[in-house]
Amino acid sequence: MNAARPRSLAVSVHDVSPLTRNMVEVMLRDLAEVGVGVTSLLVVPDHHHRADIDQDPGFLAWLREKEAAGHEMVLHGFYHRREEAAGGGLVQKIVTEHYTAGEGEFYDLDYEEARGRMEEGREKLTGAGLDVVGFIAPAWLLGEEAEWAAANLGFAYTTRLGGVLDLRSGSYTASQSLVYSVRSAWRRSVSLWWNAWLASRLRKNPLARLGLHPPDWCHDKIRAQALSLAREAAVDRKVIRYRDWVEG
Ligand SMILES: [Zn+2]
Repeated sequence: MNAARPRSLAVSVHDVSPLTRNMVEVMLRDLAEVGVGVTSLLVVPDHHHRADIDQDPGFLAWLREKEAAGHEMVLHGFYHRREEAAGGGLVQKIVTEHYTAGEGEFYDLDYEEARGRMEEGREKLTGAGLDVVGFIAPAWLLGEEAEWAAANLGFAYTTRLGGVLDLRSGSYTASQSLVYSVRSAWRRSVSLWWNAWLASRLRKNPLARLGLHPPDWCHDKIRAQALSLAREAAVDRKVIRYRDWVEG
């Protein structure tokens, strides 16, 4: 399905909210300087129950500016945090606490709960005049029932760590996202090595993906490598938003 598409680069900025706005502004400025003028911005409607975007008209106006400049708004969970499930088993605990640092909000929501949060979250964005066609779960952990809910609500696509799923046609583009883990010094070292290796391995993939989080920008080596990989990829790839890939 992607044969006719130009080689592309999709950069996403995760966890965009009033709590991260200032850092995201710096990230977008840096990315623009290396040739990435448009991104997919993954917006959290009420980040950790502390930043309801409806209560922050200045933030919504800022998002509208970004959209007008070519960036895409993507719904990214609702609170972003996964509530402690009563009686969650060991596997759940490991997934929640270790893999995602407790951020897998949509990992095990049932259909109705997932659908309710998606509808309410999307409404906060569309009600502010923003256009939203994608849903990306926090930590890319989208449970099966939540995936049905996203499809039934008319979201055009979601992404996983390993690829992009068109929710209307079911077609899947395999492309592992570059992403950094910065919570400790050893994770940062491993991340630098891993992403350099992965970037070279993905050179022939029609779609290259780079997923960035605001804390990445607190670490100079991470920031420098991310920008250098983005610059390199942008030289011979078309810089797109995810919606461009599925709307092809
Ligand atoms: Zn996130």
